[in-house]
Amino acid sequence: RAREAGRGRSHVFGDALRRELSEQNAIETALGAALANGEFVLYYQPVVAVETGDVEGYEALIRWPRPGLGLQQPDTFIPVAEKSDLICDIDRWGLREATRQLAQWSEDEPERYADLTVAVNISGRHLADVGIISDVTGALASSGLAAHRLVLEITESVLIDVPAATAHLVALREMGISISIDDFGTGYTSIAQLQQLPVDTLKIDRQFVTSTVAGARDLLMLMVNAAHSCGLSVVAEGVETDDQLEALRALSVDSVQGFLLARPQPADVVQGRLGTVRDAQGLQLRTEG
Ligand code: C2E
Ligand code: MG
Ligand code: MG
Ligand code: MG
Repeated sequence: RAREAGRGRSHVFGDALRRELSEQNAIETALGAALANGEFVLYYQPVVAVETGDVEGYEALIRWPRPGLGLQQPDTFIPVAEKSDLICDIDRWGLREATRQLAQWSEDEPERYADLTVAVNISGRHLADVGIISDVTGALASSGLAAHRLVLEITESVLIDVPAATAHLVALREMGISISIDDFGTGYTSIAQLQQLPVDTLKIDRQFVTSTVAGARDLLMLMVNAAHSCGLSVVAEGVETDDQLEALRALSVDSVQGFLLARPQPADVVQGRLGTVRDAQGLQLRTEG
C-alpha cells in the first residue's frame, strides 16, 4: 500500500512539474517573440549627486508593455529569462539600446547630457559568458559612446561565486567601463573581499535605506566607510523621504537614487522633463539640465 501511495504521489508531483515546465516554456517563447518584435522598452531613473543635486547619469530599467496585458515589470519576466540563454539576448538588447539612447541625448542636447553615464543591469549568467566582452564592445562601437560613460551593474552574489565573471569584469574595467555592485548588503561579501573585487561603485540595497530597525544606521555607516576606505564610491538606492536623504548625507553617501528624486520614466519623458529633480542640498525643486 505504501508503495502504491508513493507511486501515486510521484505521479502528482510529475504533473505539477510538467505544468510548471510548460508554463516556463510558454513565457520563454513569449519573451523570445517579444525580443524579435521589438516590444521591450527601457525606463530611465536619474542617479543624483548628494553634494550638488546634479544628475550624474541614469539607470536603465527594462519594461515589457505586453500587448493586451499591460506594462510588465522586470521581476515578472527577468527571473524566467535568467533560466536560459535568453537573458543574454535580452541584456545584449539592453546594452545596445541604453548606449544608443545616451549617445542620442548627448547629440541632441550636449550641454545637458555630454558628461552623464548610463548604468545597465547585467545578469550573472551573461557576465559569466565570454560573449559579454563582444556584446559590450559591440554596443559601444555601434553607439559611439565612450567606455567611461557606461556603468555595468552586477548583483553581489555573482562576484563571489563565479570566477569567469570576475575575469570578464577585469577585462571590462581595463577598457574604461565602470562596475557597480548592485543590491549590496543582501549577499555575503566581507570587507576583506571588497578590497579585492574589480569594482568602482557600491550600490547599497534599498532595505538598508528604508530600515528603521535598531542598528540599521550603524550597519549603513559601516558599509559606507568600508566602501570609501576601499576607494569605492557609494550610491544608495530606494530613497523615498527627505529624512532618508538627510541621513545618507550625514553618512557621506556620494549619490542617491529613488522615488524622492524621480521615478523610472520612458526616454521621451526624461528628455522632456524640466524642474522635476530635487536639489539634494536645499531640498527644493530645481531645473534639470
Ligand atoms: P535593481 O537594479 O536593483 O533596480 C532598482 C529597482 O528599484 C528598480 O525596480 C526601480 O524601479 C526600483 N526603485 C527605484 N527607486 C525606488 C524607490 O524609491 N522605492 C522603491 N520601492 N523602488 C525603487 P525595477 O525597475 O522593477 O527592476 C527590478 C530589478 O530587475 C532590477 O533591480 C534589476 O535587478 C532587474 N532588471 C531591470 N532591468 C534589467 C535589465 O535590463 N537586465 C537585467 N538583467 N535585469 C534587469
Ligand atoms: Mg540596478
Ligand atoms: Mg539594486
Ligand atoms: Mg534589485
